[in-house]
Formats: sequence, C-alpha cells, structure tokens
Amino acid sequence: MKIGVYAGSFDPITKGHFDVIKKSLRIADKVIVAVINNSNKKCWFSLEERKSMIKMLVDQFGDKVEVKCFNGLLIDFMKENNADIIIRGLRAVSDFEYELGYAFVNHDLSMGEVETIFIPAAREYMYLSSSGVREAASAGARLDIFVDDKLIDIVKKKADSFKIKG
Ligand code: ADP
Repeated sequence: MKIGVYAGSFDPITKGHFDVIKKSLRIADKVIVAVINNSNKKCWFSLEERKSMIKMLVDQFGDKVEVKCFNGLLIDFMKENNADIIIRGLRAVSDFEYELGYAFVNHDLSMGEVETIFIPAAREYMYLSSSGVREAASAGARLDIFVDDKLIDIVKKKADSFKIKG
C-alpha cells in the first residue's frame, strides 16, 4: 500500500489544492493531507477550521484520504504514518526552485527512503494561491473560481470578521 502525504497550510484549501489531492490518488493508494500547525506563521483560519474545510471536500473519497495536523519534520510525520511519498503541487516556475530544494532535503534526511512526486497545477489554477484567495475575499471579490462552493460563505465570513475588528 502506497501512502502519500500532501502537506501545506491550506489557509484556506483552494481548488488548486483539491485538484492535486484528487490527482494524487492515481499515484498513492491513500493520501494523508497534513495541515501544518506552525505557531510562527499567522494564519487566517485556525488549525481546526482549516482541517474541517478540507474534510468537507475530501469526504467523498472515504478512507482513501485522511486529514491530520502536523508540526516538526515532515519526514518524522511520514515515518509515523508509514508513508513514503511526498506529494507536492507545482505551479509556475517560481515554485520550482523552492520545491526542488525541499525535495532534496527530505530525500537526504530520510536517507533516501522518501520520494517527492510533483503534480503539475491545472492550467486554470496555475496562479491560484491561498494568499490570493484571502486578498480576493478581503476586497469582496467573487470567490467561486478559487474555492469550492461549500467554502465560499465560510471564507467571506472570516474576511468580514477582520473588517469588523478593523
Ligand atoms: P504553504 O505551506 O506555503 O502555505 P500551500 O498550502 O499553499 O503552501 O501549498 C501546499 C502545496 O500545494 C505546495 O506544494 C504548493 O506548491 C501546492 N499548491 C498550492 N496552490 C496550488 C495550486 N493552485 N495548484 C497546484 N498546487 C498548488
């Protein structure tokens, strides 16, 4: 059984992320979406909110997709979960350099036991990022092209809560 791990902040999960999860199931028998719990990084959504939004979307895949949180080293998380494939999405050239470095480091740290597989972003999501979604939401733009319909109100509400706080 091939277990893949797709890690990220998912603040919030976008249609681009979801596309990668769906495609990763062609490579791995099971995929763990690992939501990074990093107290240094200020997120819009709490860890629980980010997890629950992902769960709403991946529910359709049953036990083939699991959502967990992690902090620390990705390869330690991989070992704990018997996973040996790191799934990453590749958007424009700008992702490439960072992602390649990350892949080498994880390969070395795991003594060659984990491999990173890159899934190219779909054309329409090539320039889609969580930060872009947050900006669009803050500006009151339409969100249906960026996030699943189920999440639109949740993201809008969050943006509004920041406006109220000022
Ligand atoms: P970060 O940890 O920087 O917040 P993200 O959660 O945005 O990262 O992304 C996690 C992974 O998903 C990365 O491999 C990133 O390249 C990939 N990714 C992000 N947005 C897209 C997209 N629109 N299409 C494909 N892959 C994406």
